[in-house]
Amino acid sequence: MSHTDLVGSTGESCPLMGNYGPPQRLFVSGSGVELFDRDGNRHLDFLCGLAVTSLGHSHPAVTEAISVQAGKLIHVSNLFANEHQAPVAETINRLIDSGPGQVLFQNSGAESVEAVIKLARKFQGRGRHVVVSALRSFHGRTLAALAATGQPEKHEPFQPLPEGFRHVVWNDPDELERALSPEVGAVLLEPIQGEGGVNPADDSYLCAVRQMCDDRGILLILDEIQTGFGRTGDWFGFQHAGIRPDIVAFAKAVGNGMPVGGVWARTDVAAAFKPGDHGSTYAGQPLALAAARATLDTLVAIDAPSLVTEKGATLISMLTDLSGVTSVRGRGLLLAAELSPDALAGRSAADVARRCLDRGLVVNGITPTALRLAPPFIVTDAQLAEGVAVIGSVLEEN
Ligand SMILES: *Cc1c(COP(=O)(O)O)cnc(C)c1O
Repeated sequence: MSHTDLVGSTGESCPLMGNYGPPQRLFVSGSGVELFDRDGNRHLDFLCGLAVTSLGHSHPAVTEAISVQAGKLIHVSNLFANEHQAPVAETINRLIDSGPGQVLFQNSGAESVEAVIKLARKFQGRGRHVVVSALRSFHGRTLAALAATGQPEKHEPFQPLPEGFRHVVWNDPDELERALSPEVGAVLLEPIQGEGGVNPADDSYLCAVRQMCDDRGILLILDEIQTGFGRTGDWFGFQHAGIRPDIVAFAKAVGNGMPVGGVWARTDVAAAFKPGDHGSTYAGQPLALAAARATLDTLVAIDAPSLVTEKGATLISMLTDLSGVTSVRGRGLLLAAELSPDALAGRSAADVARRCLDRGLVVNGITPTALRLAPPFIVTDAQLAEGVAVIGSVLEEN
């Protein structure tokens, strides 16, 4: 199917900018793990809109909450409260389980990262504004989030970026320690680097980072945008290491597809934001938060972490059984399958993902040699087997 078929035209006559590249499908409906394109072709979604729709497509509780709220009240601005903000914030406080904290809602991941950077700067004061993050990290596309993102090739076309960012080799405590000069106010890390290749932090690394930050009065900020809300088999990725963060950025799965994000911070850190310091017109609006409330209530009701732990173990063993897969990394249902040179046979993982799509499976090439899999938590063992069989057949067809 060509670009022209999907969006009407190509190049300058196309009504859409080209920054996403040519779309590969036009999906019109979804239900649970299944997605249907406009010709009615069924696909299994093992990507969840990039780890967003953890409860599957059109989950009845979320759809109902959005429908009811849309008929009641969609937006009033942050000059006023709404009935969902406090309950959702209380649930997030409980799931983060790291002592007294407060929540500020946002609309997206990048905005949540912008907010955590501003909060850390405000709390630490001028002169302690530097944020240290990791090479290969991904924190979003707005200018400060891009500056925090540890991928220099993504920076180049947009220089000069905001100053005050420093990058260190991933998962190496000694490297990090050397970067912690007096101007450093915060360390920003993903518990598992998602876009950077599904690279988990060692639990011992996170513990060492926590200690270094404590010793120096540095804030530890965790970007849980991809890893949060059960995806790794715990409510948040940092919980595997048994540490407590000072600040957490979240988004993606919290609204099961509605644009919701936000920041959690230790109460004394949260107090640094005074009226007028930060805000966003839509953030925390009733429609988005009705979706978040239904999503979180459902994730709690199904005990998402244990479900994910069980499904993740099943998926790892199925992938490991494929002869073209050399190793599987990640945690829970955020996994990458490393493909052997023989199975790749000169193709990239993105080529393999395109062939999988042709056979009705949505996955993506996260590095030139690895596929990322992030299926919804409600996936059945039969669906896992069906999806893995598609990958197996594509790897054998070279
Ligand atoms: C997706 C992602 C972001 C950016 O979120 P957007 O909603 O796309 O702005 C930031 N950090 C991590 C870890 C992500 O996975």
